[in-house]
Amino acid sequence: MLKIAYDPIYKYKLPEGHRFPMIKYELIPEQLLYEGTVSEKNFFSPTPLDEESILLTHTRDYWFRLRDQQLTEREIRAIGFPLTPQLVQRSRVIANGTLQCAFYAQQYGVALNVAGGTHHAYAFRGEGFCCTNDIAVAANYLLHHNIVHKILVVDLDVHQGNGTAHIFRNEPRVFTFSMHGAKNFPLRKEVSDLDIGLPDGTEDQAYLSILKKTLPVLLEKVQPELVFYLSGVDVLASDKLGRLGLTPEGCRERDRFVLETCKKNKLPVAISMGGGYSESLAIIVEAHANTYRMAQEIFF
Ligand SMILES: [Zn+2]
Repeated sequence: MLKIAYDPIYKYKLPEGHRFPMIKYELIPEQLLYEGTVSEKNFFSPTPLDEESILLTHTRDYWFRLRDQQLTEREIRAIGFPLTPQLVQRSRVIANGTLQCAFYAQQYGVALNVAGGTHHAYAFRGEGFCCTNDIAVAANYLLHHNIVHKILVVDLDVHQGNGTAHIFRNEPRVFTFSMHGAKNFPLRKEVSDLDIGLPDGTEDQAYLSILKKTLPVLLEKVQPELVFYLSGVDVLASDKLGRLGLTPEGCRERDRFVLETCKKNKLPVAISMGGGYSESLAIIVEAHANTYRMAQEIFF
C-alpha cells in the first residue's frame, strides 16, 4: 500500500503575504483524495520524533536554542519563518514522517512525506525555510541503528542540498547527489558527493537526458540499500525562484524515471516533497500530485 505521511501541523500559520505557499500541504492530500488516487487509509500521522534521534544529526547547541526559542534574530531571518514552539513541533513531526516513510518504503517499495525535503538545514543552523534536515535525521537514525548501511540521497529540488551535503561531507555511508540550478540559491554551494549544476533555462530534454545518464550509473557505483528522493517542483519554468525551464510533463517524467529506476533495482525509495513556488497554486499542487500518481501507478 502507498503510505503517505501527513499531519495538519504541516500547514504552519504564516503572516499575511508570506511568499511560502504553505496551503499546498493541505491541498495535496485533498486533491489526491478527491480524484481517488488514494483514500484515507493511505495516510498516517507521524508522532514528533524524540530529541535523542534529532541529536544524532543536529548539534546540541543549535537544537536546544531552536527548541527553547533562543535563536538570534539573524538565525531566525535566515530560516525565513517566524520561530514558535509550533514550528519546532512541526519539524519533529516532519522528520519522523520521513523516517517512517523509509520504513514503509522497505515494506512497500515507496512511501511519501507530504512535507520535508528541508535540505538547507545544517547540523548547527537553518536557512531557506528549513530548520531541521528531515532526510539527514532519518538517514542518521537508520545508520545509527544499523538498519541500513548505505544510503543514496537523490536531491532534484532546483536548489542545491547544501545542508545535506555538509552534514554528510565526511560520512561515506551516505552518498549525496544534488542536481540543481547552478546560479540559484544557495549562492555559496557546499560539495556533495555529486553535484550537477544546470544552466538557467534548462528544458525537459536536456534535464531528462542528464538524469537518465547519471542515476543508473550512480546506483551501480554506490550500491545503496535505500534512496531518499527529494522531489521539489521548483524546476518548473513557471516557478518564481527556479530559473529552470521544465514543463509539468517533464517534471512528471523525472519522477517516473526516478521511481521506475528504483523499482527496477529493488531499492526502497522514501520521498520528501521539497519546494515549489509557481505563481499558480494549482500548478504547484498538480506537479506535486503527479509524484503520488506516479508512485501509485508504478508500485501498486
Ligand atoms: Zn527548492
